[in-house]
Amino acid sequence: MPIKRIAVIGAGQMGAGIAHICAQANYEVLLQDKNESALTKGITTIEQSLTRAVQKERITEIEKERTLANITTTASLSEITEVDLAIEAVIEQLDVKQNIFASLDEQLHDKAILATNTSALPITEIASATTRPEKVIGMHFMNPVPVMRLVEIIRAIQTDDATYETVVSVTKQLHKTAVTVKDFPGFVSNRVLMPLINEAIFTVYEGIATIEDVDAVMKLGMNHPMGPLQLADFIGLDTCLYIMEVLYEGFNDPKYRPCPLLRQYVQAGWYGRKSGRGFYTYT
Ligand code: NAD
Repeated sequence: MPIKRIAVIGAGQMGAGIAHICAQANYEVLLQDKNESALTKGITTIEQSLTRAVQKERITEIEKERTLANITTTASLSEITEVDLAIEAVIEQLDVKQNIFASLDEQLHDKAILATNTSALPITEIASATTRPEKVIGMHFMNPVPVMRLVEIIRAIQTDDATYETVVSVTKQLHKTAVTVKDFPGFVSNRVLMPLINEAIFTVYEGIATIEDVDAVMKLGMNHPMGPLQLADFIGLDTCLYIMEVLYEGFNDPKYRPCPLLRQYVQAGWYGRKSGRGFYTYT
């Protein structure tokens, strides 16, 4: 099915980035968030990112204006009706995502595809909240979306071939590389990455090294572009905790237990870069 109009639900770090690249690839984009302030912030982030791209001569001023003109916003989920593909990027909570999917299922035409950007929740369970589970799929973008080339495509057990092929084709239109994985906790990306981040937090929790030194070991010793604690701040510590909980419960294996220090930071509202404080402070 040809895709013309895309809705992006959630205008946070990921949703704004997804709306940006979809609009730049000339799709008509409807960006929705329940918070008006998140919509304003999301559009500002997109504008700033496009302005930087113009300054670096990667795009023209005309392309920037065209991209911005392709995006409209709304705070109301019920206004999402005439779209062919909805990409959900709200907080990592199963009940919140399932409620959104159930509403979209009622509002959208029969052929519309429902995708989720979840980091680790079961696509199969999100799909079961709809009457069209064969049209539900995972499109796991990486952060920052305009920069990172990968989209992990996750097929729920119910996803049909037509949905899968359409989403792979959209991914190509977005100039990203699709890698297909099965629907098991954490998929591939977060099953490998999150235990690394969690273990780095344990080394701080146990007083083995300072935050800066843990990051220095991984940057200088392993050639990682960013230390795991800095990366955790960048992803969002709330998101990291949700993912560890999904791995822990999904595999029933104590090796995935979230570090108590991670839990405490989240309880304190220290979510990382987006809240101004995590393992590091941000102004
Ligand atoms: P975020 O906190 O920056 O943004 C979430 C947004 O969702 C907020 O603006 C919030 O207002 C909005 N929201 C919450 N409930 C809503 C609802 N019912 N309806 C509409 N909007 C709602 O989070 P994020 O980092 O953008 O993560 C979003 C999703 O993407 C999560 O599922 C996360 O696991 C996934 N993800 C995150 C990363 C990352 O590095 N941060 C990477 C890949 C995937």
